[in-house]
Order: sequence, then C-alpha cells, then structure tokens
Amino acid sequence: MTSTATINHRALYRLPWTLPDNAISWLEPTSACNLSCDGCYRENVTGSHKPLPEVREEIAAFRRLRNSDGISIAGGDPLMHPDIVEIVRTVREMGMKPILNTNGGRLSLPLLRELKKAGAYGFTFHVDSKQGRPGWKGKSEVELNALRLEYARMLDEVGGITCSFNSTVYEDTLAEVPELLDWAGKHIDIVHVMVFILYRAAVPQIPFDWYAGAKKVDMSALVYSEPGDRRVDIKAPEVVAEIRKRFPDFTPCAYLNGTEQPDSFKWLLTGRVGTTERVYGYVGPRYMEIMQAGHHLGTGRYLAYAPPKLTSKGRTMLLLSPFDDGVRSIAKRWAGSLLANPLRLFRKMHFQSVMIIQPVDFLENGAQNMCDGCPDMTMWNGELVWSCRMEELKHFGCWVRTVPRDGAAVPAAS
Ligand code: SF4
Repeated sequence: MTSTATINHRALYRLPWTLPDNAISWLEPTSACNLSCDGCYRENVTGSHKPLPEVREEIAAFRRLRNSDGISIAGGDPLMHPDIVEIVRTVREMGMKPILNTNGGRLSLPLLRELKKAGAYGFTFHVDSKQGRPGWKGKSEVELNALRLEYARMLDEVGGITCSFNSTVYEDTLAEVPELLDWAGKHIDIVHVMVFILYRAAVPQIPFDWYAGAKKVDMSALVYSEPGDRRVDIKAPEVVAEIRKRFPDFTPCAYLNGTEQPDSFKWLLTGRVGTTERVYGYVGPRYMEIMQAGHHLGTGRYLAYAPPKLTSKGRTMLLLSPFDDGVRSIAKRWAGSLLANPLRLFRKMHFQSVMIIQPVDFLENGAQNMCDGCPDMTMWNGELVWSCRMEELKHFGCWVRTVPRDGAAVPAAS
C-alpha cells in the first residue's frame, strides 16, 4: 500500500520561476546517446548533432527570450557532441552557467579539465538502475552509489564544479530513495544536489484518446509510451512519505506548482545542512526566499546552482537564524552537538539540495498538469517548448491533447 505525506503548499515558498525569468533553460545540442535509459523521453538518433552555428543561435534565443542563470546542456548525451567544449565556452561567454546533464559514460579526467577550462560550472549525472549501463547491468540503485561516488570524486579532484545526480524513480525503486539520500548525506561535502524524477509515460490503458489537432493519433509511436502496466502517477508527497520512514524530520521548503493544480508539487525542493558525519536539519521557506530574491536583486536572475564555495559555508548560513525557523533549529542542534563533542567545531558544514520532480500528470477532464514556469524549456523552431514532450512536436507537429473516452472510468486526480 502506498503512503503519502500531507504537505501544505501555502506554507512553502513558491519558487519564483516563470516563462521569461527562470533559473534554468534546457539546451539540446544532440539527441544521440550512448545508453538507452528506460525512462528517457528523447528518441535516440545517431548522428543528430546540431551544427555549432545552430547551437549558438539557440543559446542566443534563450538569452533573448529568457533571463536564465544556468543552461542545462542535455540531449541525448551532450558529451557525444564533437563540439561540446566549444558549446560550453559559448554558453559561458554569453553570461550563463553551463551545466552538463550527462550519463557520465564518456567523461574522462582530461575532458573534464578541458570542459572546466571552457567554463563548465556543474555536472548533473543521470545514474539509475534502468539504463542498461555496461558493467552495471542488474545493479540496484544502492549498488550504483559506487559509480556515483566515482563521478563525485572526479569532480572534487578538479575542484570548483557543482556535482548533482539525478535518477528516475519507478514504483520498484521508490523504496531505495531513502538509501540514496543517506549516501548523499555522507558525501555532503562533494555531492551538492540530488534530483529524483518520477517516471512518466503515455499509457494506452489510460482511458483517453490522443489527438494531434483534429486527428486521433497512436502514441505508441513515441519513445515515451508505456506498453506495460507500470505506475506513471507516483506523486512527490509519496516520495516524501517514503523518505520520512528513514528521516522523519525531512521537510521541503519550496515548490513549483502545476499549471492546472496550484497545490500540486511539480518541483519540490528541500535544503539540508550538515557535515559528512550527520545532517543537522532542513532550511525553511524564508531561507530559500532570501536566497532566490537576494540573488535576483544582486544579479537580475534567480539562482540555479550554488557554487561549491558557497555550499561549503554551512556555518555562515547559520547567520540567517533570526529569519528562518529551519536554520534556527539547525543552529540549535549543532550547538548541542558541540557540547557533546567540541571537536565538531572543526568539521566543515555544507548545504545540499534535494529536488523531487513530478512531470506531466493527466487529470480526469483530460487536462495535462505541467510545471508552471517550466525550468526545462528548450528550443523548437525558435520557440520555447517543454523538453519533456518535444517528441510530440517532432512526430505530430503540435502538442497532443488527451480526451476522455465516453463512459470510460477515469483515474482519480490527486
Ligand atoms: S514541464 Fe516537463 S520539461 Fe518542464 S520542468 Fe516539468 S517535466 Fe521538465
């Protein structure tokens, strides 16, 4: 039986990201990939690398349409692109932080150094158990922590680069999420962000017909159709409930709502502070508001990824205790722990983000609940589009609508 946490969205900080003013944008220089992950929503097309001038034009278009602090360079796997170093340099030269979203398979130390020299700001490694990764087939999420650690250490060796991991969460891997968080907590000094993306797919069993314009279409043509009966409706509060079985005080501080449901948690953010020995607690909504609004005030942009030199200043963050209940209780717990062992004073404290992303949800009336102010907007023919559904544009030329079938039983909306 699934359990779910009760979270009051109005008690959290609503991340201020919007269509024209957003922390992140999503660049896809290629849709070629060296893996074929089960939950991937991009068709793997060999040799689909965009020429450099086209990539430059897309970066310029982001600059024109959207205030973005960071650009996620994704795909496909961006390290497949022969001009990846130049792409990173271009993003940096245009004043944005290049974050490489990669499975890491092609990353070597020399390439990492080259990318850093070109301006790479961070890496988000997609590592999960349904990737068919050579050498790691059949390994569980927990066993894959050994691979995650290799990447985190590689980045740490080069230094000054933000290290994030994302993994897709399926019903059979949900129970492993707390273990991953436990692992991340023990490496809070070199792992800065953990992202959990809830598996979604177009399912023929859902009682909808699918229409592109006036034409009924067959969604099985798309890479993100799901022929089996796996769950495609796991919600962020279920993940929080799972995490709380192991970490009862796990408390999100900020969220991004859905376009159709103001109380849905499409991006649910938790910030925790600790040392490699223990997590002292979770920051509150005020802390996140100060970070986002302060960064916007200072730079004109909302903060995408904090640099390691900032996340390692956990103790300085405690100065925000007067403004934020979460930070205050972190400070109290830390002070109490010093009484038990004063040597803890010499341990560095770090900040780590945990993001749960809940992509498209289908509602009873056929509406599709998307992330409001989608941070992962990408370019399609010069326009900003949802990257998670771009295959619909590629195959049908427009977004696909879901229309409930007459008399069919429909799944309950959350
Ligand atoms: S709407 Fe889709 S592309 Fe945009 S943030 Fe949500 S899941 Fe990502």
